[in-house]
Amino acid sequence: MQTEYWKHRADMKILLIFTGGTISMVRNPATGALRPADMQAFKALVPELEAGEATVEMLSFDPLIDSSDVLPRNWAKMAETIYANYERYDGFVVLHGTDTMSYSASAVSFMLRDLAKPVIFTGSQLPVGVLRSDAKENLLTAIEIASATDKQGRAMVPEVCVFFENHLFRANRTTKQNAEHFEAFASHNYPSLAKAGVHIFYREHLIHHPEQVLPLRLCTKTDPHVAILKLFPGITEEVVAAVLHTPGLRGVVLETYGSGNAPSFDWLYNLLKDAIDRGIIIVDKTQCSAGRVEMGRYEVSLPLMKAGVLSGYDITTEALLAKMMCLFGEYEHDNDTIRRLLDTSLAGEITKSND
Ligand code: ASP
Repeated sequence: MQTEYWKHRADMKILLIFTGGTISMVRNPATGALRPADMQAFKALVPELEAGEATVEMLSFDPLIDSSDVLPRNWAKMAETIYANYERYDGFVVLHGTDTMSYSASAVSFMLRDLAKPVIFTGSQLPVGVLRSDAKENLLTAIEIASATDKQGRAMVPEVCVFFENHLFRANRTTKQNAEHFEAFASHNYPSLAKAGVHIFYREHLIHHPEQVLPLRLCTKTDPHVAILKLFPGITEEVVAAVLHTPGLRGVVLETYGSGNAPSFDWLYNLLKDAIDRGIIIVDKTQCSAGRVEMGRYEVSLPLMKAGVLSGYDITTEALLAKMMCLFGEYEHDNDTIRRLLDTSLAGEITKSND
C-alpha cells in the first residue's frame, strides 16, 4: 500500500538544525579547501529555502563538526535541541555528516520517547555549493517530508528517519553502505518508509504512529562502556580475553557469523560465560548486513545461548551500540531491566520474528 503525500502545507514550521558534515561546507574560494559554511552563506546557496513552501528556521551547532568527531554528548545535544523546540515547530531536519549519521540518528530515536513529530536526518556526499551536489535535493525533500501531513492532519512520518537519495528510512535501521555513490545509506532489514521521485510515495503501513499523543520525554544519559567484538577465523583467546576484561566494560556487541554462529571452542564459551557472570551483557549480532540472528538454528550457536548471550535479532550494529549506551545510562546497573529492554523493540529497531 502506497500513499502519495496528502498535503504539503505552507503554514508548517520546520527547524533546520546544522551539526556539520559535508552538506554544511562550502569551498573557500581563496584556498579551494572545504570549510564549514555559516548560515548566511548556506542560505545564499539555497535560495529555495525562502520559497515559502514551509517556514524554515535555522539553528547551528557551534562549532560545526565532522561526524567522525561526534560523541554521545553531541547526540544528547541534538535530542535536547529538538526537545527544547518541540512545541514551536511541526518538524525537524537535522543536517549531519554521513559517516556516523546512522549512530546519531539511532541514538536520537532512543532519546526522544513518545515522539509524535518528524525528525529527519540528512546530509550529502558533495558540499552544497558544488554543481553536481546531492545536497539541495536531499535537504529540500527532507523539509518537504518533515512538513507533510496525512488526511487527519497528523504528521505523515512521526519518527526519527534518515532521508538520502530518494529513500526515507527509519533511522535506527540504517547503515552507511557506500562512500562513493549518492545512495550512501541502506536499510537491509526494514523497507523504506517512503520513496521520492516526481511524487513522494509513503508506505503508510510501515510508518509508526503513536497510539495517543503524549508529552515528549527526553532520556539523554549514556554510558559509553561498550565494545564491538568481531569474530574471525583464527581469533585468539588473548584478543577475546583482552576485550572482555576491558576495565568498566558493561556491554558487548558480539559480531558473529551467519545466523548468529560462533566457533565452538571451549575457551570462547568459558570467556563469554565468565564475562556474563561478571555482569557484562553480551548481544549476538550477525556480521551479515541483511538477515537475522537465529540462535539454536545451528549447533555452533548453542554454547552462546547456554552462556547467556542475548539475541540481537535483525538489529544493526549502529542501533545496538546506541541502544546499549542509552540503556546503560538510563538504568545504570539494573541489568534485568536492561536485558529485558534489549529484547524489546523500543523505536522499531528490531523485528523479533520472520512473520
Ligand atoms: N566526513 C564527513 C562527515 O561525516 C563526510 C560526510 O559528511 O559525508 O562529517
